[in-house]
Amino acid sequence: MKPILVIGASVGGATAANRLATAGVPVVLLEKDLSWVKPCGGALPPVAFTEFDIPQSLISRKVYRAQVYSPSNRVTDFAVSGLRQRETDYIAMTRREDLDPWLRQRAVQNGAQLIEGRLTELQVREDGVRATYRDKASGEKHELFVEAVIGADGAYSTTAKLLGLPRLPRCIAIQERIYLPEEKMARWQETAALYLGHDVSPDLYAWVFPKRDHVAVGCGAGPGNTAEARRLLANLKQRLADELAGGEVFLEEAHALPMSPRPHMAFDRVMLVGDAAGLVVHTSGEGIYWAMKSGDMAARTLIESLPDTSARALRRYEKQWWREYRTMYRFLRWLQKWGYGNERQMEVFTDMCRNKDVQQLTFESYMHKNMTPVPWLAQVRMTADILAAQIRHYLPRWA
Ligand SMILES: Cc1cc2nc3c(=O)[nH]c(=O)nc-3n(C[C@H](O)[C@H](O)[C@H](O)COP(=O)(O)OP(=O)(O)OC[C@H]3O[C@@H](n4cnc5c(N)ncnc54)[C@H](O)[C@@H]3O)c2cc1C
Repeated sequence: MKPILVIGASVGGATAANRLATAGVPVVLLEKDLSWVKPCGGALPPVAFTEFDIPQSLISRKVYRAQVYSPSNRVTDFAVSGLRQRETDYIAMTRREDLDPWLRQRAVQNGAQLIEGRLTELQVREDGVRATYRDKASGEKHELFVEAVIGADGAYSTTAKLLGLPRLPRCIAIQERIYLPEEKMARWQETAALYLGHDVSPDLYAWVFPKRDHVAVGCGAGPGNTAEARRLLANLKQRLADELAGGEVFLEEAHALPMSPRPHMAFDRVMLVGDAAGLVVHTSGEGIYWAMKSGDMAARTLIESLPDTSARALRRYEKQWWREYRTMYRFLRWLQKWGYGNERQMEVFTDMCRNKDVQQLTFESYMHKNMTPVPWLAQVRMTADILAAQIRHYLPRWA
């Protein structure tokens, strides 16, 4: 059998390649730059470590408390806890310079062939796919003839472009990584913070995510505001002036995040996963888990359907994905528009985070990917609290 080509050896691609290699399917993993570190906050739900068999040693810091700051700097401070208390109730902060190499190394150990080169051409034919890449070391062009392709090449996906698919709407997320003096670092011992407000992020949020020896301070700017990203980050640092005093910036990084899933993610002999398929979820901008999950699901679909690599066979991946997650994506898209729509709504959103049911349901679905139906009593309590917050913040305007 011809090999499967996975393009992009980051979280999505390395997970897909590992699944294929473990099943004994020949797989080539193509990565344009193995030394590149994906700009990322690195927040990961604990379920990812059990589901994808990742060692705990890759967790840089465990976060047990979350804070949400409103535009007027009111804070909601709460414990990271699901519907029932578990040992794994935390947010795992990872560093992509640790996580990505580990995932791709595992795929290689299990049999994947790793090539450092950039995909430049793709020709889907009846008998296979002809892929051309430029080798990083030699600069020469090489060709591969493969059975099928999994495009895991991120928000600027070359695979999607070569298939003639349109660009997805994108936001820009920008962050600085900062070493803090010991006494300042103590503030972030087990706490992560989100900041809302048009000054720091007009349509998403800004964050401080702590790692073992530094903090990642960043913000997102949605389509239409991307040119403002640097100014928004400067505003955030202004807002955090006391907490960051004496800090030393050792890395500035920014990258695009897709803001909408693609209508189709499976075609004749080709599938798209992770950011290439637009699978980042709204409201949180969470994409690592979903890239791994979709990479794994696409690989499993391929293993089951081989040697059939027709669009009809591969669409089972797409159908299964949307059967499981359509409601969640729709809800979180709505929540982003509702919660971050304007500064008054951001105040309401901050108040909403005080509600215990909201906290527990949010973390249950984030940490354990357990999308339980909301009990009616909790629905009543949440609705009452949200209405009260809505009235509190809009009444002065109506009066
Ligand atoms: C600043 C920032 C903060 C973020 N914070 C978080 C967070 O805290 N938690 C979270 O869950 N998500 C976060 N995300 C989102 C997360 O980083 C992405 O959703 C995730 O990395 C997507 O994984 P992926 O494997 O699909 O693509 P990527 O990680 O983007 O990887 C794509 C890979 O493909 C390679 N590639 C691209 N083109 C080619 C080509 N032509 N040939 C060969 N290789 C190619 C790239 O070099 C890269 O290695 C953040 C994103 C940004 C920008």
